[in-house]
Amino acid sequence: MNSKIWLSSPHMGNNEFNFVKEAFDTNWIAPLGPNVDGFEKDLETFLGNEVHVAALSSGTAALHLALIILGVKAGDEVICQSMTFSASANPIAYQGALPVFVDSEDRTWNMSPELLEVAIQDRISNGKKPKAIIVVHLYGMPAEMDRIMEIAKRYEIPVVEDAAEALGSTYKGQALGTFGDMAILSFNGNKIITTSGGGALVSANEAWIKKARFLATQARDNAPHYQHSEIGYNYRMSNICAGIGRGQMEVLKDRVEKRRANFDFYKKAFAANTDISFADEPSEAYYSNRWLSTVLVEETNGVSRESIRLALEKENIECRPLWKPMHLQPVFANAPYYGDGTSEKLFEKGLCLPSGSNLTEDELHKVATHIQECFKVSADPVV
Ligand SMILES: *Cc1c(COP(=O)(O)O)cnc(C)c1O
Repeated sequence: MNSKIWLSSPHMGNNEFNFVKEAFDTNWIAPLGPNVDGFEKDLETFLGNEVHVAALSSGTAALHLALIILGVKAGDEVICQSMTFSASANPIAYQGALPVFVDSEDRTWNMSPELLEVAIQDRISNGKKPKAIIVVHLYGMPAEMDRIMEIAKRYEIPVVEDAAEALGSTYKGQALGTFGDMAILSFNGNKIITTSGGGALVSANEAWIKKARFLATQARDNAPHYQHSEIGYNYRMSNICAGIGRGQMEVLKDRVEKRRANFDFYKKAFAANTDISFADEPSEAYYSNRWLSTVLVEETNGVSRESIRLALEKENIECRPLWKPMHLQPVFANAPYYGDGTSEKLFEKGLCLPSGSNLTEDELHKVATHIQECFKVSADPVV
């Protein structure tokens, strides 16, 4: 069997191991230490805009703390983009709150500003103003942040950016993760950079980030004994993982460039194929890290995103349908949804192609060739 071509696999640089070794040499084997502080500083410098960062055990944990800090409680409602990974919505349920799902628009595949406003007005007229808005930058593509922030400000609802997939992307030259009242990042194994597992909470509000660090370390009051006035969590990042993160920050820019080059490669390779289309950046304002290269497949002659996915699977090439929208998930069957069918159409046609920054030219060619073959076979007359 050929060696597997992964969707998105970890890609270490030169220094990750040195930071981890330093943690061993100095015995900082704990969820605190110089690497945790250093990684937070690196992220703050990279993101700019005077944000503060708390390094945490996962992006999901970061989103959970964001909702707690915003005061989301049982019975509250939180608006969330439907087209996303379940981790964007699960923390709403952790709080006993109700997710209200909003559909995407078809340029960025992210939250539709029009439908967001429809949802807000309808929830208010039903007697409940949403407590927060979770907007996602899917596959690294910036959401329409100007319009979303304008609507959120007008209704005075805080915005949490789920930038788990979007570290290194910008909107109007400004880093994603610095637009909302808070933002979360993920460093899971398949993200653009990884700490094996990890995440971060980002905010310009320093008090909130301090609060996040406090809640993430079991909410210990300032006393010599263990005293607690609030429910705490064990959500801090390990100093070992943060060491990997410090090394990864040194190569983040290269990783973005390579992922964007993957996208350009696929776009060129399928330029003549009218059944395959791409989500281009809608204007100069949008700069995507192209975490995953995605295509839409127009079903023709039995060739669909699923037939392509299965054909590639046979070749030991990993592809994945786009995220199945949250309003179609059995677990969220009872959640309200405001949509026009955009995310359903994307889910039906969309495929994520191998996109790692460690893919070789040969591997990219192999993926493209096997996809083109799917169309050739179907074009042949059946004898
Ligand atoms: C990966 C991801 C998360 C969760 O991050 P973890 O670090 O895996 O908990 C949240 N939202 C989106 C959109 C993601 O892709």
